[in-house]
Amino acid sequence: MKEMICIACPIGCHLTIDGNLRVEGNICPRGEKYAIEEMTHPTRIVTTTVRTISSLTPRLSVKTKDPIPKELIFKVLDVLGGITVSKNVKIGDVIVSNILDTGVDIIATKAIDIHQ
Ligand code: SF4
Repeated sequence: MKEMICIACPIGCHLTIDGNLRVEGNICPRGEKYAIEEMTHPTRIVTTTVRTISSLTPRLSVKTKDPIPKELIFKVLDVLGGITVSKNVKIGDVIVSNILDTGVDIIATKAIDIHQ
């Protein structure tokens, strides 16, 4: 039996799931889906920042466009630690395509004008 808080909406139902993937405590089906995924293949959206060449905005906030396997979070952060943005960026622009062959892009969550 494992306990967890559902993060699929702000209500935050307290869930339990057993070895047969029977879920209790969820108000809606999303909680059951979340608990089963968390048990079998946990994933997360990763948010962080990368360096830029702008002196006004030295860091650009980015995130994974979709959730990635939880075990890859630190490897993704390692890759992003080596990235420096040197061009203008709009919200949603791809900063790293298909990071670590996950099929997931890293996108900007902020716009920057590098020449300001
Ligand atoms: S089970 Fe449904 S209602 Fe409860 S936190 Fe998850 S998404 Fe929200």
